[in-house]
Amino acid sequence: MEMIAMETPSEFLCPITHGLMREPVRARDGHTYEKLAIERWFAQRATSPLTGSSLESTSVEALPELQMAIRTFAESRRDTDDGQLYFACPFCNADCANRAACKAKYEKQLRSDAAFGAAARRRRWIEGTLLPSAERVLRTGPVSAGALMVGAFSVGAVGAIVGGVASSVAEVVSGGIELAHGLADSLTGASDDEDRPSWARGCFKIASGAVLVPVASASIAAMFALGAAAGSVALATGILKELANAAIHTVRLTSNAIMPPPTTDEA
Ligand SMILES: [Zn+2]
Repeated sequence: MEMIAMETPSEFLCPITHGLMREPVRARDGHTYEKLAIERWFAQRATSPLTGSSLESTSVEALPELQMAIRTFAESRRDTDDGQLYFACPFCNADCANRAACKAKYEKQLRSDAAFGAAARRRRWIEGTLLPSAERVLRTGPVSAGALMVGAFSVGAVGAIVGGVASSVAEVVSGGIELAHGLADSLTGASDDEDRPSWARGCFKIASGAVLVPVASASIAAMFALGAAAGSVALATGILKELANAAIHTVRLTSNAIMPPPTTDEA
């Protein structure tokens, strides 16, 4: 009886090990892999081994029917290399004497792969997310803080001036009214008791409205103006720093274009 050469169906082979799958599972990328092989792959990264795209989940789905079909196929090919390999130790792919030792070795490898994967993810996060945003904050910090200071202190200075002028006018007007009432009372000979209008208190109010209030509000406005000036210095420094950074970047790009940096392949 002549043996009919049987081509191994490609759906029986793992794209990672290229051997017959003992425990085929379907990953979220829709492809089928040997369970041990995809487990080790996912311990290091959450991407598809075939497409390279990142996966939402590294969970896998068992495929008992495919497993049975592969097993039947392997039985029929026991005398071939492929068939023998199928029944060998799944951890070392050989006819080894101590599968428990191989399993322990595999599990140790899996843990170290997972640790490596976690370290790689941390590094990617630090380099891809943390450092760029920290750099952005450091770069734009002086500019935004300076702009904020200029804005807030300018508003404060204007507020102090407007408020000062308003209370000064109000004080002078009410002092004038009190003075007029006080003079009228003096002329009509009424007694100058505490509650009655007094020309002396009116004069004092006018003096305070015309001199004390303007001096006080001018001092407050001056303090705000100092804050705004400090903010302008910070703003200017930040803008200059940005310009310097841009200039350095341009020079670096230009010199790279003239003389490209050495590549590691040349060694
Ligand atoms: Zn083994």
